[in-house]
Amino acid sequence: MSVNAPATVPASGARCAAHPESAADATCTRCGSFYCESCAGYQFGAERFCVRCDPGGEYVAWEDRRRLGTWTAFLRTLKSLLLGPDRFFQRMPAHGGFGGPLLFAWISWLLAVGMVFIIYAVIVGGMFAILPFPPDAAGEQGPTAPIIVGIALAVMGCLALGIVPALFVWSLLLHLFAKIFGGAASYEATFRCHAYASGALALGIIPFIGMTAGEVYWVVLSIFAVKHAHKVSTGRAVAIVLTIPLLCCGLYFVSVFGLAALGSAAR
Ligand SMILES: [Zn+2]
Ligand SMILES: [Zn+2]
Repeated sequence: MSVNAPATVPASGARCAAHPESAADATCTRCGSFYCESCAGYQFGAERFCVRCDPGGEYVAWEDRRRLGTWTAFLRTLKSLLLGPDRFFQRMPAHGGFGGPLLFAWISWLLAVGMVFIIYAVIVGGMFAILPFPPDAAGEQGPTAPIIVGIALAVMGCLALGIVPALFVWSLLLHLFAKIFGGAASYEATFRCHAYASGALALGIIPFIGMTAGEVYWVVLSIFAVKHAHKVSTGRAVAIVLTIPLLCCGLYFVSVFGLAALGSAAR
């Protein structure tokens, strides 16, 4: 073994001390035993503890991405988030900054929108190949497929930038309602909850139904996240998470009916 090789990486074929069926992911720097991903405790810089040495067991694979590699860390995090949200948010550290979860949410969102874009590009491109716009009276050609694809890419670019302030603002609203309902966590923790829960949007990669499924599951994941981070009951977590969309719908209907009433009164 070279001097620089990290001492925490077990030999290939090593198994977890607690789960012989799972491959060892790392070696605990305190007790020296091999552990698998589900046995990982919180990672303090070069130190990495197994869940027996760090019973809190705070761990998110995404925040260990320097060691795991970005893509592996992303897929592992997505898998544990989507398949075991209760355990995922139980283990999510309340601290660790904004950048990591933000990047995770952004990649998840980009996967979903990328798929929507491909579907529309195929449909619209196909339509234009069959039925191009006829030239208008002056003989000018109507919009061509490259122009339409260019517009779609520009819209996507704006949305890709817009998701960053949107995550911060929505987290702020979520945090406000969490405090009203007796939540205990910091804004940082609320933001991390919201950003990781947004990983549900990656379901958008499933053609046609994925976007809707992702949005519904996003609400479900947010409830688990708020419940664990703010240490509130499931009922309160549901109230905190659903208040914002309900208020948005309420404001929408009030403004639509208000404008309609004003319109008929003016006549
Ligand atoms: Zn240990
Ligand atoms: Zn294990």
